[in-house]
Amino acid sequence: MAETKRDYYEVLGLSKGAGEAEIKKAYHDMVKKYHPDLHPGDAEAERIFKEVNEAYSVLSDPEKKKKYDTYGHAAFDPAAGAGSGGGFGGFSGFGGSGGFGGFGDIFDTFFGGAFGSSSSQRRGGPMQGDDLEAKLSISFEEAAVGGKREITYNRIEKCPDCQGSGAAPGSTVETCQVCHGSGQVRTTQRTVLGMMQSTAPCSACRGKGKIIKKPCNNCRGTGYIRIRKRLEINIPAGIDNGQRVIMRGYGDEGRGGGPAGDLYIVFSVAAHDIFQRDGSTLFCEVPITFAEAALGGEISVPTLNGTVAYRLPEGTQTGTRFTLRGKGLPVVNSSRMGDLVFTVLVETPRNLTAEQKALLAKFSGDTVSSKYTKRMQFLNKLFNRKK
Ligand SMILES: [Zn+2]
Ligand SMILES: [Zn+2]
Repeated sequence: MAETKRDYYEVLGLSKGAGEAEIKKAYHDMVKKYHPDLHPGDAEAERIFKEVNEAYSVLSDPEKKKKYDTYGHAAFDPAAGAGSGGGFGGFSGFGGSGGFGGFGDIFDTFFGGAFGSSSSQRRGGPMQGDDLEAKLSISFEEAAVGGKREITYNRIEKCPDCQGSGAAPGSTVETCQVCHGSGQVRTTQRTVLGMMQSTAPCSACRGKGKIIKKPCNNCRGTGYIRIRKRLEINIPAGIDNGQRVIMRGYGDEGRGGGPAGDLYIVFSVAAHDIFQRDGSTLFCEVPITFAEAALGGEISVPTLNGTVAYRLPEGTQTGTRFTLRGKGLPVVNSSRMGDLVFTVLVETPRNLTAEQKALLAKFSGDTVSSKYTKRMQFLNKLFNRKK
């Protein structure tokens, strides 16, 4: 049976030697795709789900992963003699003809570990709903001042037609006669190590302990259905591109009395045509004329609430940065305001008239003097080097 097993990395859609984060992500994606609750009665989805869980149980454990990377499936096949040491016995039920051996344990590991619920849970027991993510695109100004926006998103909820029972309205849910409602059956398997007993979810009722004779049409017997929801979101003033707001309990509804997941709102903030930002600091460039730079004077500086007047000092150099305190963006969850930093850029005039050119030519007669500090320093360096 070891020969026919698919490679664990392949099962998770990964290439050999994938890292911890990749494995975890691939596993979560696969579980979302093949979870039996989403494919009632689909044997192929169930088989893949089992295969995925088996692959993850090995690849998520550094020690087992190392063995697998070295020996392949032989590392965990008792018949191959490589042996995996203790603590892995329950695994032998997998891959054989014995159905669900060991499945329950791994299921618990997943929902206990990854979803933070208690380890005593069984299939059919309380299960936390999935976390969801919704993107919200807002303008630069909306991010600056905050506000409210309505979003729509899809959330799994109890089916309103059958109240989550999965049975068509008017029909009943019966207790499974194979497992007498426990959802679990004991199986005994003959292995090379002797007889092995394991508990597995009942295949007659798929571990639910109940049999639905007439499934609800609305949810196709699953008891849960994806519903489009509207939700008003508070945009925190100062929120930045890529930042998230968590709406606790607005994710998928939990099952069997389990808590709901969370909804993550991920903000996408549009670019501004004048401003850039870094956290709560706003940046912009202000082009000034050659005369303004030389003579100084009042210029208009843009802010998010209109322009403010700013007095430039005489002899301002291009590229000089000035700071307007408190004219930036709000610091999220605080009453503080960031600063606005503007950089002045001296623009050289073009398309001058003959008269203007003559005036400038007259002015530029004296280009080597104390009026031009940088130029003087530069020329000094140049001449000293030549000597
Ligand atoms: Zn229903
Ligand atoms: Zn049963």
